[in-house]
Amino acid sequence: METVEKLTKTLRNHGMKITPQRLMIFKILENNTSHPSAEQVFKRVKKIYPTVSFTTIYKTLETLRDLGEVQELIIDEDRKHYDPNTDTHHHVICSNCKKILDVFEDFSQHVKLPDTLKKDYTVSGFQISFHGICKDCN
Ligand SMILES: [Zn+2]
Ligand SMILES: [Zn+2]
Repeated sequence: METVEKLTKTLRNHGMKITPQRLMIFKILENNTSHPSAEQVFKRVKKIYPTVSFTTIYKTLETLRDLGEVQELIIDEDRKHYDPNTDTHHHVICSNCKKILDVFEDFSQHVKLPDTLKKDYTVSGFQISFHGICKDCN
């Protein structure tokens, strides 16, 4: 993700109105390594701006995703998480406390694409999600 200042400019150029609520979303995401879900972002913004709607939060996150400013992670089916780090990296998720941590390791030599996939797709990337129990929970 770009800095909040740059991001504000980028979004203005895309016709988005920069409201204090949206600015707060950017600030929550900037340098955030905790991979917050839309609900978690919503709760934090709502504390300061009680009238903000979940739709506003969700739509802003979707726009950031469409612009390539954040990565959307679908780790469990009913919850999307957001990561301002858009560089290729992987994740490890604790099955107990649901904490998501980054895994910066190049697995490309270890991944062999099946022929059927190579035939039908031009694969641009992949992401590995490891699941387990973290040290704190163990
Ligand atoms: Zn844990
Ligand atoms: Zn990440």
